[in-house]
Amino acid sequence: MKSIAELKKIVIDRIESRKEEIIALGNTLLHMPELGYCEVKTAAKVKEELEKLGLVCRTGLAVTGIRADIACGNGEGPHIALMGELDALPVPSHPFADKTTGAAHACGHHAQLTQMLAAADALVPVVKELSGSLSFIAVPAEEFQALDYCRKLMAEEKIRYCGGKPEFIRLGVLDDIDMVLLIHAGHDTFTPESYNGFCMKEIIFEGKAAHGGLRPWAGKNAAAMARQALNMIDAQRDTFDDKDSVRIHGIISDGGNAVNVVPAKAVLELQIRAKTPEAVANACKVVDRCVKAAAMAFCGNVTIHNLSGYMPYKSSENLNKLHGDNLMELSGKVLGNFGHRGSSTDMGDVSMLLPALHAYSGGFAGSPHGADFIVEDPVLAYVEGAKLLAMDVVVLLGEGAEKGREIAAETPVMNKETYLEYKEKMSSKEEFKYDQA
Ligand SMILES: [Zn+2]
Ligand SMILES: [Zn+2]
Repeated sequence: MKSIAELKKIVIDRIESRKEEIIALGNTLLHMPELGYCEVKTAAKVKEELEKLGLVCRTGLAVTGIRADIACGNGEGPHIALMGELDALPVPSHPFADKTTGAAHACGHHAQLTQMLAAADALVPVVKELSGSLSFIAVPAEEFQALDYCRKLMAEEKIRYCGGKPEFIRLGVLDDIDMVLLIHAGHDTFTPESYNGFCMKEIIFEGKAAHGGLRPWAGKNAAAMARQALNMIDAQRDTFDDKDSVRIHGIISDGGNAVNVVPAKAVLELQIRAKTPEAVANACKVVDRCVKAAAMAFCGNVTIHNLSGYMPYKSSENLNKLHGDNLMELSGKVLGNFGHRGSSTDMGDVSMLLPALHAYSGGFAGSPHGADFIVEDPVLAYVEGAKLLAMDVVVLLGEGAEKGREIAAETPVMNKETYLEYKEKMSSKEEFKYDQA
């Protein structure tokens, strides 16, 4: 049986020898950006690359997702998944945007797929030396955009949640997985401690139309209800504990149809973010109270459509350390820690159930989700991350998989049952009628 050190050398040498090929693959994926749940060409390319390694792919998971498995040859051990996200973002001004859809890899998810596929190519030849199992998983729709399209898929019962990873969990695609590793595109090699989770609300106020100049008192102003709801939500910000990192932000997506008509309908779309599932649920209750109070004050009605969003992300300290040790060994760099982040990812959902790594690679310049977010150093963006993923797997599953077993035994925040209960609770539709008051 080869040692971890010997196996690391084999996978690093293999990836180094394919550097140009890996960068070319990254470029190919960069130039086929597709929006969430529409990643057909990207998924086909991922499948083609995995099949070249002799792997059999399950396809069409949560519409476009893919999973390929391989059993290791050296006995029992944990089941590790390397993961990459398939989707791009609508950023039409990005230099590599699709001319028709405006989709662009302005979050660099093509680099995740490239790293995962390059790591797979290096690991498949050495699996006989490892213990446990490996899966390579491409997941759709991380960006939580194109909500109208998501709602259409929901109505057709093709999905139940907007994010690809929550869908994977719901469908049981991750049931046999013990931990998940992913490296996201970024400016440098960092890892977060945690991310906020969020719930999304579409809030529809219903009033009564009337002439705005002649008889405004005959109407009920739904736009005024929305404004008062926002005022009350703003006034509540001090009541949230700093440690919960609550953020509430949104837009007025409908404020009426004509200036001389008292608006009969107004719509708010809000995201409510916080650091723990309990804090998200609590902040949602506060928002609901403000919304109901505003409708009540004007004798109007309000409907709250809740979308469960993403769970908070909780990092595995042990996985971060293992990844940081490999980074130090590979390049002499210290893995940075950017603490808690106010934004969200559906790796949060995975991290509630399993130990998860959501590290960042360097090699990108510009502002994430901006038109200037591009690959600056293809070796850092595509190649070095692949080496790190392969090294991480070798440490976890090499020499009898002792390290992998230790991390796989970490206590999860939730089990699948309590997770799905929470998601369902946060996916409700509620109507409150005060028009008879
Ligand atoms: Zn993004
Ligand atoms: Zn991203």
